[in-house]
Parts: sequence; structure tokens; C-alpha cells
Amino acid sequence: MTNATAIPVSDKQQILAQLCEQLDDAIFILDANLCYLSVNACYEMTIGYNESFLLGRPLGIYAAKFLSADEGAILADITSHLNSSGFYEKHFAMANRYGQVIDCHMTYRKICIEQTVYYVGMVRDMSAAIKDQKKVAHLLNYNQVTGLPNRKVFLSKTNDLLLDTYQEIAIVRLNIDRYRSLASLLGPDGINTLIKSFVTRIKNLQLDYLTCFSHFGGDDFVLVFECPDANIVRQQLDSLMQICERPFSSDKTEANIYCHISVGASYFPKDDDELTGLLAKAEKALHYVKKQGGEDICWYDTSIDEATIGNWQLESELRTAAAEGQFIPYYQPKFELATGIITGFEALVRWQHPTRGLLRPIHFIDAIITHKLSFELFSQMAVQIAKQLSIWQEQGFCQHICINADATEFSHPNFFKMVRNLLIQHNISATQLHIEVTESSLIQRHSKVKKQLGLLKELGIYLALDDFGTGYASLSYLQEYPFDFIKVDKSFISDIDNNQTQYAIVKAILDLGTALDMQIIAEGIETEQQRDVLLSMGCKQGQGYWLSRPVAADAATKMLIEQYRTH
Ligand code: C2E
Ligand code: MG
Ligand code: MG
Repeated sequence: MTNATAIPVSDKQQILAQLCEQLDDAIFILDANLCYLSVNACYEMTIGYNESFLLGRPLGIYAAKFLSADEGAILADITSHLNSSGFYEKHFAMANRYGQVIDCHMTYRKICIEQTVYYVGMVRDMSAAIKDQKKVAHLLNYNQVTGLPNRKVFLSKTNDLLLDTYQEIAIVRLNIDRYRSLASLLGPDGINTLIKSFVTRIKNLQLDYLTCFSHFGGDDFVLVFECPDANIVRQQLDSLMQICERPFSSDKTEANIYCHISVGASYFPKDDDELTGLLAKAEKALHYVKKQGGEDICWYDTSIDEATIGNWQLESELRTAAAEGQFIPYYQPKFELATGIITGFEALVRWQHPTRGLLRPIHFIDAIITHKLSFELFSQMAVQIAKQLSIWQEQGFCQHICINADATEFSHPNFFKMVRNLLIQHNISATQLHIEVTESSLIQRHSKVKKQLGLLKELGIYLALDDFGTGYASLSYLQEYPFDFIKVDKSFISDIDNNQTQYAIVKAILDLGTALDMQIIAEGIETEQQRDVLLSMGCKQGQGYWLSRPVAADAATKMLIEQYRTH
């Protein structure tokens, strides 16, 4: 036990007075008439009046007639509570002498000392704590990039809405197509800036019937429309898609960024009467849109469930196709436009499906990438193409064939070795094999892709940039990768004989080709007029249905024989 000695009363009073002065809480003492007797330094600071001014003045500082209605009501409340129970506690916002509003917690206590009544008040400034609370609440409830309500807020708001409403409600899920590629192109800051501008555009649209716009993270957005008419919701979504298709500028790339959107929607109560079910069904519809190439709106329907089952089947069929060699090349000739002479062929894959017949890539190429079968496809095509080249060589036709490939094929560790071995094995020159890479596949910028393209180039293989003008950063690819050919996408040729913009774009690409010493090939020539216009512009090479559709190997050989005879 310690032997503590009691502090003399006068010292104790002095210590207590000093403690009171130094406290972080504002303390004041009132007499029985609620007039100030004493206040500490913190109180002076908080309300902005010093003790000498306050002494003897009533609580509220001024006579009741000068107080605002609110202040008067609080004062009356305090007085009545203190008279009845001797205690009063309240959390409220108080304005100080300088007009600053302070969130404070106030307590009053009635104390009797030797039959004299005192009131002790304590004011605690809660502004900082409230700010922190608000900050935490914001962090917990809103997406930090866009400030939109997050999943948690969405779930509670929309659940309430479903319980209360007699209306039909559309739950709409929205993703940006090729978001991951965009994110890796723009980097973390760039993609956040894009997402913010994207959200601002949608907010500025002020869509009708929109009751909630929520951001679950990344490119995952949900919109809730309280509207029974699916056509009206569709109109709203159409205008949303249109507004987002206008280019976004980016500091990261010199080119504009175009955002395409996929949308899936479900309807309450038709599709489900619970929010989780509605969200899942809207998501299924969204995935369905993405599988079909994106940039579309799809309403949930039970047939989508069946299509998902179909996807499983597709995967297993593709694996069989890869194992059993069901992928075959069709050949579309490329022509010298002035003479009509075949300058080479492009190999286009066809899937010889056991029950569905000959399928074009649109039906399976995305699934090939998704299920990581790209390298198998490339190998199968490359082997057949190499064999075809050596057959033509034996027949005296020195031709070249272009093979299409995407970045996932290039990044395979055996890619280069496999191509080199094929050339040796079939005794063909590297210049007879061209490789076409689509712009869209370059967006991921795999460091491996650059290395592989460099190696192929060293080997003597010619490289073509396919679908030029449709990607995000066409010009930067030309600078970054060693291409020999540019293939102008068919979307710029389709109306070239009537449309001045198409004409101007193709002309600019042709000038660019001359400046960079690259050959230009026009894709998708469907009419004689298009061929004539291209020729008059100085475009030397082209391919398209008007010249020849893609054909099987035998038919391609016949074309070569025919050409040999006539020229
Ligand atoms: P691409 O490389 O740009 O090939 C041109 C596409 O346009 C081909 O479609 C061709 O049949 C079609 N086409 C040619 N001339 C015309 C025309 O005058 N008008 C129109 N409307 N279309 C024309 P296809 O064969 O369906 O191939 C589509 C795409 O699939 C190709 O576009 C290419 O990106 C990809 N692809 C084809 N074969 C392969 C392959 O073996 N591997 C990979 N990774 N992708 C391939
Ligand atoms: Mg191609
Ligand atoms: Mg193309």
C-alpha cells in the first residue's frame, strides 16, 4: 500500500481549476438564473467570446428576444429539462460568434452546493469526428473513382424499392467492351479518368425513369429504371450508348478512345421477384451480348440459359476440332488492281463441323481465344498452308500466303520455333509466308508480341497490319511494330465511291503508306466502281468478293492455272 497524503484543499482547488482550463472540452458554470459564472479557455475558443464578456450574461448571451426561433426553442427546452430533471443532453449544430457552425454534443447538469443551485455545462466539438464518420460512410457506400453508390447501397436501396413498388422495374447491367485491353493501354490513372468522363456523360443525359445509377467497380455499372415499358427503357439505353460512342480524349494515346457498351437487362417481376435473381439474369443477358461481339442490348430470356448450355457444348466441340484437324484454310486471292493478276492469297480459317457444315470464324473465333485454343488453331492452319505452298512450288507457282494470327498466338513460347521448323521442313522461303495481325489484338501490348514480331521479321517473314483504322491507336502501332503491309479495313471501302469521308481516309492512308514505305492493300472490294476509285487514288492491291470470294485449295489452284494460261 502507498502512503498517499491528502492534498490541502486550497491546492486541490488550484489543481482542479488548472485542469479545467486545459481540458479539450468546453466547460461553463451557470447560476440558478442560467447566467454565466465561469467558463474555461476551451469554451471561450469554441464560442468566440471571452469570460469577462460572458460573466453575468444569460445563457444564449443575449436577451431571449434577440435569439432566433430555433435558438429560443432550444433554450426553452434546456430550461424546462433542467427544472424538471436537473439534466439535459443534446447533439446539435451551433453557430459561434464568427458564424462557424459547430457540430457539438452538449450536456447540462444541475448541482446543488450548500443550497445554492449551479448548472455545469459541457460542450464537446464533434465536427472532426463527424467528418471522419462521413468520410468512412463515403468510403463504405460510394465508389471512390466515380462517387456513385456501390453494390451495398444499390442492394439496400433497390431491395426497398422492390418491396414498396407496384411498378415494373428494369435492372440493367452495363459493361464497357474490351475494358481490360483499354485499362492496360491507358494505365491506372488513364482508365480512371476515362471512367469518370464516361459517368459524367451518362449523368448529364438525365435519363427518364432512372432511379439508381450504381458502380460496382471497374466497368461494372447497374442502372435501375422504374418504368413498365421496355421500349421506353430501350430508347433511354440507346441514347446512352450513342453518347458514349463519341470519342473520349486521352493523354496517354494520341488517338481518341471509343467506348462501346454491352448491356444486359432483366425485368421485375416478370423474370424474378428477388433482387439477386434479377441481377444474375441481367448479367447472363450481358454475357450473352458479349459473346455475340458486344455493343448491343439484350433482355433476359429463358433461351439465354439454353445458349449458355450451348457454350459448354461449343467448348468441347472445339477441343475435338483441334484434336481431329477440323480446321481448314480457305484462300482469298489478292490482286494487282490494274492488271487483275493474283499477287498472293490470304488464308481464312473454316471449321469443317461434323453436323453444322462449313463454319466461318465469326461463329467460333472468340470461343477459340476464350478457351485458349489459339495456338492449336494457328499450328493447324500453318501446317496446311506450308504444305500448300510447297505443292504450288512443285507446280511452278511461286506464291505467298498470308496467315491471320492474334497476339495470344504470338505469345506462345513455341510460336517462333514452330514457324521456323515449318519453313525448313517444307523447303519454303520465309518471304512466301506473310502474317497478318489485327489491330485489336495488339492493344494488349504483350512485350512478347513485340519480341516475336521482331524475330519473325529477322527470319524474313513479311508482316501486315490487318483491319487498319478500326483499333484504338492505329498510328502508334505503325511506329511500334515492324509492318510491311497495311490492310485498309473494309468499313472504309464499302461506300468509297459515294462517301467523301471514306475517300479522304483512304487517301490519307495511301499517303501514309508512301511516306512510310509500306504497301497498302484494300479489303472488301465488292463492286467494280470501288475498284476503279481505288485504282484512281493510287491503290495498287486489293481483295474482295467482286474479285474473288475465299475458296478451297483446289479452286485456288485452278485460279492459278487459269492465270498462267491467260497471262
Ligand atoms: P480478315 O482477316 O479481315 O479477313 C477478311 C474477312 O472479310 C474474311 O471473313 C473474308 O471472307 C471477308 N471478306 C473478304 N472479301 C469481302 C468482301 O468483299 N466483302 C465482305 N463483306 N467481306 C469480305 P472471314 O473469313 O469470315 O474472317 C473473318 C475474320 O476472322 C478475319 O478477318 C480474321 O480477322 C479472322 N480470321 C480468319 N481466319 C483466321 C485464322 O486462321 N486465325 C485467326 N486468328 N483469325 C482468323
Ligand atoms: Mg486478315
Ligand atoms: Mg481484315
